[in-house]
Amino acid sequence: MKILKFGGSSLKTAKRIEHVVQLISSQHPCGVVVSAFGGITNQILQLISHAELGADFNINLQLFFEKHRKIINDLNLKRELMLDTIKKIENELFFTLKKIASKKKCTPQLKDLGLSVGERLSAIIITEACIQKEINTTYLDARKVILTDDNFGNAFVHYKRSFNSIRNNWEDKSKTRIITGFIGATDSGETTTFGRSGSDYTASIFGAALNVKEIEIWTDVNGILSADPNIVSETRTISHITYDEAMELAHAGAKIIFPPTIIPALYKSIPIRIKNTFEPENPGTTISQERAKNDYFAVGISSLYNVSLIRFQGAGML
Ligand code: ASP
Repeated sequence: MKILKFGGSSLKTAKRIEHVVQLISSQHPCGVVVSAFGGITNQILQLISHAELGADFNINLQLFFEKHRKIINDLNLKRELMLDTIKKIENELFFTLKKIASKKKCTPQLKDLGLSVGERLSAIIITEACIQKEINTTYLDARKVILTDDNFGNAFVHYKRSFNSIRNNWEDKSKTRIITGFIGATDSGETTTFGRSGSDYTASIFGAALNVKEIEIWTDVNGILSADPNIVSETRTISHITYDEAMELAHAGAKIIFPPTIIPALYKSIPIRIKNTFEPENPGTTISQERAKNDYFAVGISSLYNVSLIRFQGAGML
């Protein structure tokens, strides 16, 4: 079995979601981690800022709901049970924003709860789209199985306990599960998040817990490029890279994957494959323990922007 992860850019419109459902169907049964639909997390952050300032957030909130409703309509999803669940989650966001507005302050707890709405809505809608295509699918809210500390916004995962819960949840292996990326929960059930782009990390946690054959991160480029294409015109896809190399590039500014993603996969030596949703036949990049030697002098070049170098000097520094 594999774990697949689809990011927001692969889930921006009903058409893209239909394409993703086809990719899921070709790998069924599998675990599928999803991000919020493209642009949605930024929109929630904006709603939170408006609420904090005491500004009227209602119009923008309706637009936010509309975006999801349009996708639901375009996909022709009509089941009452799903529509009720969507309504409940929408209400949860409304009351969270109301709380923030009344205090004119957003606590880290409320922020994580608000942000979780993006992934929950997307996972429910995609589950329904898969069921409609007769793929034996079920929805999994990762807060049920990923346990974290209470470092809201950048939560630390309790691996052992989370791995056990994931395995218990996966007894029925015949179903595909659509899993909310980016979120977990504390012992007392409070919602936490892992930081921006954290859904990659969710995929790796599930992959390691279930000892899968491969973790596939589906994005909108053909894997990891050898340099930033905005600067270097002749970039190429790096076909194979080791965990160490990927970590080093990621820490030095390359937008590869969310850096903690490497940890669970490395621990179980599970290869991570980065693939392009819009070019599925392209092999993309494989990150693994070892790689064959190649002819290139450097594996890749990362670049950091807007960095200031500050030099302290003087006898006191001795
Ligand atoms: N939706 C979250 C974000 O935009 C997490 C993710 O996509 O991985 O950062």
